[in-house]
Amino acid sequence: MTFEALGLNTSIIKALTDAGYTKPTPVQEQAVPAAIAGKDLLVSSQTGSGKTAAFMLPSLHRLSALEPSAASRTHNQEMQAARARGERPRFKPAQPKMLVLTPTRELALQVTTNTDKYSVNLRRLKAVSILGGMPYPKQMQLLAKNPEILVATPGRLIDHMESGKIDFSQLEILVLDEADRMLDMGFIDDIEKIVEATPDTRQTMLFSATLDGVVGNMARRITKDPQIIQI
Ligand code: AMP
Repeated sequence: MTFEALGLNTSIIKALTDAGYTKPTPVQEQAVPAAIAGKDLLVSSQTGSGKTAAFMLPSLHRLSALEPSAASRTHNQEMQAARARGERPRFKPAQPKMLVLTPTRELALQVTTNTDKYSVNLRRLKAVSILGGMPYPKQMQLLAKNPEILVATPGRLIDHMESGKIDFSQLEILVLDEADRMLDMGFIDDIEKIVEATPDTRQTMLFSATLDGVVGNMARRITKDPQIIQI
């Protein structure tokens, strides 16, 4: 199997070749075509299986095919025009197209680093991490650029959501990475609140070591007719 056969566009394949990836891993073989087709996914796979690329590659493929929304163009133009006039632009909420929730700062940073690698030839698509412990002014600066992709731990994201800094009405893709660990860490209420704030029309992908018990219940509540992948 090759990355071409999975249906990914040439900009992404070039980035993978440059990163030294020669062929997809088993989870990527199954997840990428289904996710490109817009399916919801429930995936049980371990760290090290290539799961980050399994959700990020099809997401980048889909997002790169979308025109920037009128709202997003206006957002960026208004901010730039204000800066050009030497004014401090009025803060407008970020309107991400994709959100990845992770249990820890370390995982969020790893997802963001990998995303930068995969999207190196897709200049419009930028990923930003929103993490507990990071200074607020820095995070506001990142959000003010209206990044398409947010990678976040749930607690800090809720703070920004509740203070009106992020608007999820344009969200296309939601990923829960290591969902079982997020639940073990007590993030269930935060996750429910975040999911509630996103459109029902979103694509949802959930990755977890197990799909049983509490995580299975949540997975079924937040996905529609998901493809189940067990590696
Ligand atoms: P993950 O399971 O997402 O934490 O990925 C584990 C490691 O495998 C990361 O360092 C990735 O950069 C790497 N990786 C992911 N997919 C591939 C692939 N198809 N070929 C080679 N390395 C990969």
